Amino acid sequence: MSNYHIETKCIQEGFKPGNGEPRVLPIYQSTTFKYDSSEHVGKLFDLTEEGFFYTRLANPTVDSVERKIAALEGGISAMCTSSGQAANLIAVINICNAGDHMIVSNAIYGGTINLFAVTLKRMGIEVSFVNPDASLEELQKEVKENTKLVFAETIANPTLIVTDLEKFATLAHNNQIPLIIDNTFATPINCRPFEFGADIVTHSTSKYMDGHAVALGGVIVDSGNFNWDNGKFSGLSTPDESYHGMVYTRDCGKNAYITKARVQLMRDLGSAPTPNNAFLLNLGLETLHLRMERHCSNALKVAEYLEKNDKIAWVNYPGLKSNKYYDLAQKYMPKGSSGVISYGIKGGREAAVKFMDSLKLAAIVVHVADARTGVLHPASTTHRQLSDQQLLDAGITPDLIRMSIGIENVDDIIADIEQALSSL
Ligand SMILES: *Cc1c(COP(=O)(O)O)cnc(C)c1O
Repeated sequence: MSNYHIETKCIQEGFKPGNGEPRVLPIYQSTTFKYDSSEHVGKLFDLTEEGFFYTRLANPTVDSVERKIAALEGGISAMCTSSGQAANLIAVINICNAGDHMIVSNAIYGGTINLFAVTLKRMGIEVSFVNPDASLEELQKEVKENTKLVFAETIANPTLIVTDLEKFATLAHNNQIPLIIDNTFATPINCRPFEFGADIVTHSTSKYMDGHAVALGGVIVDSGNFNWDNGKFSGLSTPDESYHGMVYTRDCGKNAYITKARVQLMRDLGSAPTPNNAFLLNLGLETLHLRMERHCSNALKVAEYLEKNDKIAWVNYPGLKSNKYYDLAQKYMPKGSSGVISYGIKGGREAAVKFMDSLKLAAIVVHVADARTGVLHPASTTHRQLSDQQLLDAGITPDLIRMSIGIENVDDIIADIEQALSSL
């Protein structure tokens, strides 16, 4: 199926029914699976035979969605999780232990900043947050003996900074460590980070992939390109006594990273997706290509409208020619970045709140990236746990309004903004 275009893969990849089987991916609403012999179950545990035995580790509905997402990203394998937070946690601790260090772009989702800066720090993992626009030489200075990975987002939530993926990949590979990219906002429709050197991709599938704001979820995808046997990743290249001495790089080949994430960390942490949510995610993925196209064209029109409006102080959308990241966005996401834009209203925080309360079509929601237009003031909501310095580091000003442009008729979205602005 690798020759098909990505639009076809959105529909056709993953579930491949046999003769007389359901055409549509069934929901295997079962925690457990039946076998005729103990010997057979033993082989499943040994990973010498493929199959399902307990839904915490694998489930046929979830498995089909994992295959589809791996195909969309151009990776070799994937593991779905119960949320984007669980995906980023597992992606990182699969290769980072207490005493290790990681380099992380400071322009990332607030929840991920907390996870890394507070919770992982408490677990003994050290993080250096870096300016994603820093030069390769500057970034190299942050690398230490115990640095195990580099992490960034394709387009940062909510600052919409576009990461120079090739620069980050060079930094990582010059130091024999992998680049992990959270590709939530761009989705594989607009950017496939593996093509630019990323080794692992993560997503909060709760956003565009589901696309209807119905199911929390996350996913980790492995490109299969990184050499885990280079002496830096003993967790993958030496026996795992908790999994009868398995050596992942020796016994699982290119699937070492995802296999370890599944049989060791998913086993222990249990942040598995439900079959029902996987089914909903699969439905969302079937229209991902259509929705992304509309999200992006609507967002560009709204951004262009706002840019011309004299009640607006500034507009940030990587698709605008005036944008600092326009060239990087064209390079990495020529089809469009995402449906998320941000802007400031003249009159600061007070005007922003009045404007938001006057919107009728666009609802105030914490969520982004679903079919409905939504709006949010990060400084007083999603990012309120961050200190002023962390806010500024993440590029968030007090007047910043984040708008997630939906797939309604764009004239109605603009008319709603116009009537709300007229109330100021
Ligand atoms: C929302 C989000 C997450 C967290 O995902 P959840 O599914 O909410 O746990 C991680 N990264 C990015 C870029 C996000 O937008």
